[in-house]
Amino acid sequence: MAQWRPPRYGSRVETVTRFAPSPNGNLHLGHAYSAIYAHDLAQDAGGQFLMRVEDIDGPRSHLEFADEFRRDLEWLGLQWHEVPSQSNRFDSYEKAARHLLEGGWLYSCTCNRKEIEALQPRRGADGLIYPGSCKGARCGSTGAEALRLDVDRVMAAFGELIWTDERAGSIIADPRIFGDVVIVRKDLPASYHLAATLDDAADGVTAVTRGEDLFTSTHVHRYLQELLELPVPHWHHHTLVLDEGGQKLAKTRGSPALKDRREAGEDGLALAEQLRLQQMRSGT
Ligand code: GLU
Ligand code: ZN
Repeated sequence: MAQWRPPRYGSRVETVTRFAPSPNGNLHLGHAYSAIYAHDLAQDAGGQFLMRVEDIDGPRSHLEFADEFRRDLEWLGLQWHEVPSQSNRFDSYEKAARHLLEGGWLYSCTCNRKEIEALQPRRGADGLIYPGSCKGARCGSTGAEALRLDVDRVMAAFGELIWTDERAGSIIADPRIFGDVVIVRKDLPASYHLAATLDDAADGVTAVTRGEDLFTSTHVHRYLQELLELPVPHWHHHTLVLDEGGQKLAKTRGSPALKDRREAGEDGLALAEQLRLQQMRSGT
């Protein structure tokens, strides 16, 4: 079996940022700001701004949305380099997952949500914390298996790991807030955590920029980087764009799509400028 080799990307020292939208709906103002933030950071440093379509979740992904994303970015006056979307990277996810499994860092679990709820788990950063009951044992149920990270083992092996965020400074990674998080989903060759970590390394991303709602995920990503011998980028978790009522934007609350504003003839460059100023005032 081929040995694990971390992705190589030469000795690039320039700043590389990315915008990584999922094509399961239209972009709204929050996405626009995320893209602008990543774009401006790279541009100010004379680096590169990438766009990666995160279409790992096949059945929920529609490529028409990705076409609209490109039109939206253009409308906002951004230039980018597009790297392969996640559906083209399944081999790399499988290879990494196999490597982790062979190292004993993952264990199989077929439990479904109902079975996990019956264990009366604690609630954590991302919903219920799976209490690790299937580690070293067989799950009660049969069926499709997910692979979970043995967080205690990983933390014991690597000790304290630090990551740095532009606003929050140095952070001690603590993946326990997710419990034994799913690294390979039942229906896909990776979870968001594994895919995004591998992709950012493969794309040579040096500054991971994303909304602060994904801040806690970085605790997991930092340990995955250590396990997979990947380079460690710097992170920028920026503030979220809020609506007039101070609420996070969401499609479910009817936040207007960029596409609709674009098609209604609004000036995208002016909107981008306005977002830059507004977020700057709120502390990015
Ligand atoms: N694909 C994710 C989203 O659309 C972003 C992931 C990331 O930036 O790490 O929310
Ligand atoms: Zn289980």
